Amino acid sequence: NTQDIKILLLENVNQSGKDILTGQGYQVEALKTSLPEDQLIEKIRDVHVIGIRSKTKLNEKVLKEAKNLLVIGCFCIGTNQVDLEYAARHGIAVFNSPFANSRSVAELVIAEIITLARQLGDRSNEMHRGTWNKVSNKCWEIRGKTLGIVGYGHIGSQLSVLAEAMGMSVIYYDVVSLMALGTARQVPTLRDLLNQADFVTLHVPELPETKNMISAPQLAQMKEGSYLINASRGTVVDIPALINAMRSGKIAGAALDVFPTEPRANGDYFNNSLNGWDEELRSVNNIILTPHIGGSTEEAQRAIGVEVGDALVRYINQGATIGSVNMPEVSLRAMTTEERDYARVIFIHQNVPGVLRKGRRWKASLIRPTQLLTSATVNEILGEHNVDKQISDSRGDCAYLMADVSDVQTSDLREILDSLEALSSRISTRVLY
Ligand code: NAD
Repeated sequence: NTQDIKILLLENVNQSGKDILTGQGYQVEALKTSLPEDQLIEKIRDVHVIGIRSKTKLNEKVLKEAKNLLVIGCFCIGTNQVDLEYAARHGIAVFNSPFANSRSVAELVIAEIITLARQLGDRSNEMHRGTWNKVSNKCWEIRGKTLGIVGYGHIGSQLSVLAEAMGMSVIYYDVVSLMALGTARQVPTLRDLLNQADFVTLHVPELPETKNMISAPQLAQMKEGSYLINASRGTVVDIPALINAMRSGKIAGAALDVFPTEPRANGDYFNNSLNGWDEELRSVNNIILTPHIGGSTEEAQRAIGVEVGDALVRYINQGATIGSVNMPEVSLRAMTTEERDYARVIFIHQNVPGVLRKGRRWKASLIRPTQLLTSATVNEILGEHNVDKQISDSRGDCAYLMADVSDVQTSDLREILDSLEALSSRISTRVLY
């Protein structure tokens, strides 16, 4: 019953997300801030769903108390504030919104390309200090210039379309072969890209292979007077090497939106930072420094609210795990109103061999729970009924099974539920109908 679902939203989750959840008739309590751990533990005991952003830590200590929790919605990109493994082991699905801000990042990069080509940051700073310094030397139009995109995923490909619309020619490098949009062209190696591009922009994930992906040797391969933009992750660029390349004039400008270490809250950054290069970085010409704002727009926040809100509704009402970051991704067609005599059984279990095995058929009701522990399997339990459709998948130690069973009475459901609950591999069981 949707009215029985209790949801706690913390950290001022966007209205778009709240509206989706209240629209379903769930009981939603929304708070503007995160909670101290003791209050969080007190509140989490009671709820089926919690929605958070980056500040709420859902570690083992907190999740241990969350006896009724079905699902966590991270209304943000990152999920390292949640103990994902503990959650999976206890049948709690976690969702986030990794791509809702792709367009915002792509637009920021477009702005930075022109800003760097025209040295707008420096001119504006000079004017703020009272200096009129009209220059055209080494200021360029971007029309006809080559943009090199490293990583042609959600952001890189979006950017490709925008850049072509402004008359740039686009090349890209990616570890996988991807279909080019418009007249963009994939190049076989990073070196090819660096040799040809007037502007190089990075859109790769943070991985061991992408750490210091742009360092002294790569900067040396770039064109004389070219530009570098990093709005991916701070570890991707070797900052001291970039400072050197800018001082020598090899790199004519750079924009950094991300840094190797980033503070948790707004306030002093470089003044407290322990990096040896802060002062130098701030003093080079034509460098744009921004505090990880690539995805920070009203539109992106709204889109995150919708994406995570929808994922929570799909999980609560239908059991679908598509997009989950810690569970196998499983979905079945939603039941229509004519199919209301169907029950959807969801069985989350440890990924051990033999759980689904179809062996001898027996009536589940005749088996005592102790016997079930050792011999019965899920399919033997469900096989007593008319299974219309069924799907299962596993991820690590966690497996997820979803089955639609037709022609079942309430008493049958009780029996199915009891039998499944008695299996030793069980993590959690839900019946939706
Ligand atoms: P994505 O997963 O859609 O695309 C990443 C692409 O990089 C993929 O096509 C992948 O094949 C490719 N890739 C992976 N390893 C590579 C390698 N070694 N060399 C070349 N290509 C490689 O990701 P996305 O959503 O486009 O995000 C890209 C980056 O932007 C991520 O690091 C993400 O964290 C970051 N990001 C930053 C902000 C911000 O506010 N600045 C906002 C959102 C995302």
